[in-house]
Formats: sequence, C-alpha cells, structure tokens
Amino acid sequence: MSKKIQNFVDGQWVEPTTSEWMDNVNPADTRQVINQFPASGTSDVDRAVEAAKAAQPAWAKVPAPKRGAIMFEAHRLMKERVDEIAEALTREEGKVLPEATGEVHKTLNLLEFIAGEARRLNGETIPSEIPDTFAYTVKAPLGVVALITPWNFPVAIPVWKIAPALVAGNAVVLKPAEQTPTTARIVTEIFAEAGVPDGVLNTVYGAGETVGAHLVDHNDVAAISFTGSTDVGLHIYAEGAKQNKKVQCEMGGKNALILLDDGDVDLAVAAAAKGAFGSTGQRCTATSRVVVHEDVYDEFVEKIVAAAKEVRPGDGLDPETSMGPSVDDRQLEQVLSYIEVAEEEGVTFELPAGRYEEGDLEHGYFPKPTVLTGVTPDMRVAQEEIFGPLLSVIKVSSFEEAIEAANNSDYGLSSALYTRDVSRVFRYVNDIETGILHVNNPTIGGEAQLPFGGIKNTGVGDREQGKTAVEFYTEIKSVYIDYAGEFRGGNLY
Ligand code: ADP
Repeated sequence: MSKKIQNFVDGQWVEPTTSEWMDNVNPADTRQVINQFPASGTSDVDRAVEAAKAAQPAWAKVPAPKRGAIMFEAHRLMKERVDEIAEALTREEGKVLPEATGEVHKTLNLLEFIAGEARRLNGETIPSEIPDTFAYTVKAPLGVVALITPWNFPVAIPVWKIAPALVAGNAVVLKPAEQTPTTARIVTEIFAEAGVPDGVLNTVYGAGETVGAHLVDHNDVAAISFTGSTDVGLHIYAEGAKQNKKVQCEMGGKNALILLDDGDVDLAVAAAAKGAFGSTGQRCTATSRVVVHEDVYDEFVEKIVAAAKEVRPGDGLDPETSMGPSVDDRQLEQVLSYIEVAEEEGVTFELPAGRYEEGDLEHGYFPKPTVLTGVTPDMRVAQEEIFGPLLSVIKVSSFEEAIEAANNSDYGLSSALYTRDVSRVFRYVNDIETGILHVNNPTIGGEAQLPFGGIKNTGVGDREQGKTAVEFYTEIKSVYIDYAGEFRGGNLY
C-alpha cells in the first residue's frame, strides 16, 4: 500500500502547503505506485530555509567532534537497515539488489570517513613574519546550504553531501530527485534519529523547476551543491554566480576505457561490460566509450558482444536479473533517441537495439544493451552522454591515438587504461583529461576516502568525498593575533 511521504521541516514531518502530491513509481513495473510525495511550493522552501537559518548558529557552536559523533550514530543506524534500504532503492530506482546493497555499503564508508573528519576539522598554524604575532587559519561554516540531488545514487549522493555539510557546522535543505523520494525519506529519518537537532537538516520534495530553482534563488542560501545533468548544473552555476553564491556541480560524463595491444582483453571485457551495462548505464562514471587497439579489436568486440548477450533484464529484486530498467520514461526515451542518432551516423549495431517488450518487461522501462562499432571520436554517440546501456567502440592504432580519442570529449570525469606497460601507465596519468583514473580497473567505482569529481564540463567547485569534501562547506578565516602590546603598523602591508 502506498503512503504519503512528507516534507521534513524544523524536525517535523509536514504536509506540503500546496496539498499536491506526485507518484513514486517502480520503473521495473509502472503498475506499482510505491508511495506519493509532496509537490511542494516555494513557501515550503521558505519555511525550510527559515528553520535552517534559525538552527544553524547553535549547531555551529556544537564542537565538531560532537557533530561527528552524530554521524557515527547515523552510520550505526544505517548499518542496521542495509537490507531495507537496498530493497527500497531497487524498487524506486531499478538497479539490481546487489548494486543497491553495494551503494548502501559505500554510503556507510562515506559516513564513517566523514564522521572521523570531524576530529580533523583543523586549520593550519603558519609562521608570521612579524615578531610576537601568532597566525593561523580556521574553517568556518557557510550557513544554510542547499543540496540538490539526482536519482541514480539516491542514498550515497545525499549522504556524501549532507554529512560533510553538517560536520562543518552548516544547516541543510535537501531537495531530492523526484524519482527517488522513499530513499530520501529513509536517509532523512536516519540523520534525525541519530540526533541532528531540529531545523539543522530539512528535506523538501518537489519539482526541480519549483523547489530546486527557489532554493538556488533564495537570499538566505549561502551555497548550493548539485549533482545531475549538465544543462541544469550549468544553469544553477550561472544563477548562483549572480548572487555570488558558492556553487559545486557534479554533472555528466562520457567515460572511456582504453584497451592497448598489451592489455588483458578478458579483464577489459569484464570491466567494460560492468561499466556499460551495470546500473543500466545510469552512472556518471559509466563506461560509454571503449577505445581499442586494432591488434585486439576483433577479440574485444566478439567478447563484449557475448557479454551483452548474457544480460538478463528484469525486476532488480529478482535474483535472476542482472540489469534493471531505465529510471523513467524520459530516460528510456533518451536512450532510444540515441539509437536513431547512431543509425543516422551509420554505425554498426552488433546487437539489435531498442526496448524489451516481452512479457512483464513491457510494464517497465527496459532498454536493450547494445554494442556500437565503426564509431569515430567526433560522432554524437561518442560525444554525448546517453545514460543507458549503449557502448561505443572506437578503433585506434597507437597509444597516442588512444589518448587523443579518449580526450576528445567535453567531459572529464573518469577513465580506465588496460595495459601491462608501466611507462604507458605513467604517460596516461600525465596526459588523460579526467578527474578519476583507473589502471586495469573499471571506470566505475571509487572509495570514500579519495576525492571524487571531474574536470571540463563534468564539474565545477571543490571535489566531493575524501578529505576535500569539507572544503566546499567551509570558508577559511586567516587570523593574526598580535601579542606585542605596541602598535607596529609599519610592519603591515
Ligand atoms: P536528470 O536528468 O539526471 O534527472 P536533472 O539535472 O534534471 O538530472 O535533475 C537533478 C536534480 O536537479 C533533481 O533533484 C531535479 O529535481 C533538480 N532540478 C532540475 N531542474 C532544476 C532547476 N531548474 N533548478 C534546480 N534544480 C533542478
């Protein structure tokens, strides 16, 4: 039985002032309405920001290690609910249960790491050039921060923003994606139950154009951290700049896996299959291009096509399923539209493309995994983010050509190199234009204690996760304490 999820404002679960609701449907079977969630209006945003603004000064005075202790408690509470959260995630986002469980475990790692960072929220002491002067820096919170999150990692992404924002002493208004309200409710519940004071974390559901846009505009919001599409991210960045807000955007990717002539083909095939078809291609680090040396090209294509044929689409809760659906009709339509683009560009479909419609699959949004060959680096299928299980294969004849093809992209999130040659490994590290690099490892995946993010059109602002996560949520104050007891203005420049 579906129920009505409510907004969370000032420590209370409250109905939206609009009294309007949207449906939270299962993308594997759209006949199932899981829950309903608020289609909030701007006054709901105003109430949440007001509550956050009122609560933030007291929260900033709580010693950082005590704020960290609340994150450890959130970690404990989440650990007790792994299976329940993973199931809710699969039901509303579609990814298969092992992937959903993996996401929850990754989230636990993130919480553990950031909770520990609360004891290291230190500045620096720096020697002053003036006698009897003590100089140091402190990290100060920003105030109220807005977090706007997507549906593809609906547990991990909100947490990897909420936890560092709170540890740093900010108050938060979270605007989760429309497709994944149930997991957002669980995440909110866990932080509240862990002891985050009323008003310090608020969650407001609704449309991006309404709730998200109003948060971006709001005078009392000091900073915005966004993950989602490039179009929306660049728009938010520009709007934020008008009000001199701090903005962090994590946007698209068009990640390449490079397989050189000396690379392990079987490893590369396994990595490419996982990166391209896993999570139905809906990861920002998904492998959407494979750049293959001509000497191993035929073998690679034959094996990746065999791997694509192994994919078993279906409901992610069914243990037989290896690939869930696209998250919604818009996402499926996007994938299908790129099939037309690929046809127009004259590429070869190694497997029939389209939508699965057999049996119960017709009730879900299931695109067929497809391998495209004869792709050249400038084609739209090799340039634009598809966010579906379509893999473009590009043939090259040298290491240099491979790097050039991989770098021929407006995006720069993740990449992978398959080789056994250490000299090529270091040249790749020097020359590749991505923020995350993998050697003999898939383009997907990353650990909580390392920074995550990309360059070019992929991202702006400080890196998320790792030690860099708190940078975005803090301002540096440089402090000079003169204990000489006499005026020495001549020493100041
Ligand atoms: P996707 O295409 O992956 O759904 P979007 O960029 O559309 O990605 O959505 C990511 C998040 O941004 C969602 O929470 C969405 O509601 C929000 N959003 C969409 N449009 C806007 C906007 N104009 N202003 C602020 N937030 C928005």
